[in-house]
Amino acid sequence: MMSQKNLTSRRRSSVGVDVGPIKIGGGAPVVVQSMTNTDTVDVVATTEQVAQLARAGSELVRITVNSADAAKAVPGIRQRLDDIGCHVPLVGDFHFNGHKLLSSYPECAQSLAKFRINPGNVGKGKKRDEQFTTLIETACKYDKPIRIGVNWGSLDQEMLARIMDENASSSDPKDATYVMREALITSALESAAKAEEIGLLRNRIVLSCKVSGVQDLIMVYRELAARCDYALHLGLTEAGMGSKGIVASTAALSILLQEGVGDTIRISLTPEPGGSRSREVIVAQEILQTMGLRAFVPLVAACPGCGRTTSTYFQELAESIQGYVREEMIVWREQYEGVENMTLAVMGCVVNGPGESKHANVGISLPGSGESPVAPVYVDGEKTVTLKGDNIAAEFRQIVENYVQEKYPRKAG
Ligand code: SF4
Repeated sequence: MMSQKNLTSRRRSSVGVDVGPIKIGGGAPVVVQSMTNTDTVDVVATTEQVAQLARAGSELVRITVNSADAAKAVPGIRQRLDDIGCHVPLVGDFHFNGHKLLSSYPECAQSLAKFRINPGNVGKGKKRDEQFTTLIETACKYDKPIRIGVNWGSLDQEMLARIMDENASSSDPKDATYVMREALITSALESAAKAEEIGLLRNRIVLSCKVSGVQDLIMVYRELAARCDYALHLGLTEAGMGSKGIVASTAALSILLQEGVGDTIRISLTPEPGGSRSREVIVAQEILQTMGLRAFVPLVAACPGCGRTTSTYFQELAESIQGYVREEMIVWREQYEGVENMTLAVMGCVVNGPGESKHANVGISLPGSGESPVAPVYVDGEKTVTLKGDNIAAEFRQIVENYVQEKYPRKAG
């Protein structure tokens, strides 16, 4: 695998933006963020979900601020989070009435670490300029960064009409999708230029231009990245549910990240009924980690299984080990230096089992059909013990726990 240094050295250079203690862009590691789906007015539920997203590894959490009651709830959410020791920065998502809410509820503005505004939803005509100015002046007043987040579902219609007219009268008119992409980029860049004119510093601006098509997203961000040095928030909007949402987001983001584009990412997954909102955080982390850009949790390599395995035991073991390391990581992360770089392997038979297990820090090769019912364990490439019987899962977890305690230095304090 190419080293992380080589990959990161190819990253697009961008102006760094401090969001509380988190830096976006300016050479900082790509930041993982997420968004709640609770009613912000429900302080208890929103606090709980923000904390859950932060525990999963979200480094910023965005909440909707869509009404006076939601704005009033924000300081309480911040306070409750601080009370439980969760200091994840909160980002307020404003549409239509953000100028009013931020002016009328200064404690809301102060409690947030960043404001997200959408130039397509700021207002129309003359009001648009006034309301945009109010939003930017509020950010300047409280020294808050802003994400100017353009979305093709809510594109500034006046700007779109203007660009369509310019295109129609050009000697070389382009097709409608080109015009749409150009309108998204123009909206973001012109809004950022206007924000700077009003007084917001360049290092307080993050841009995004979200669309729901993979190829469109890649084209838009390549162009946006080439035309400015603002920090970029990357995400496929309305990615969808389940594997479709994950695959589409991964396809789009991994190409752009590989090209060095993107300073913070959010995966917009629709949770399945009863599903955890934290899944979007896990997917974001897995994209960055599998690409070698960051490390968050030990990776578990597992074979897919085939006709050589007659039971689902090894699948259950792989799942249980994956769940175990994610759970333990909450504690390990605080206690051990570098444990996120550990690799584990859970394999189904002798064909690739020993080989893959030897490549991992700790690996286990379970017996396939017809093989003797034993499971050799490899630690740093050496076979150390052979497990058998009904307690293999617990014994393997203990071996992993011992490995962590022995191999990774304790953090100071
Ligand atoms: S390691 Fe064995 S069980 Fe797993 S996919 Fe390969 S042949 Fe099948």
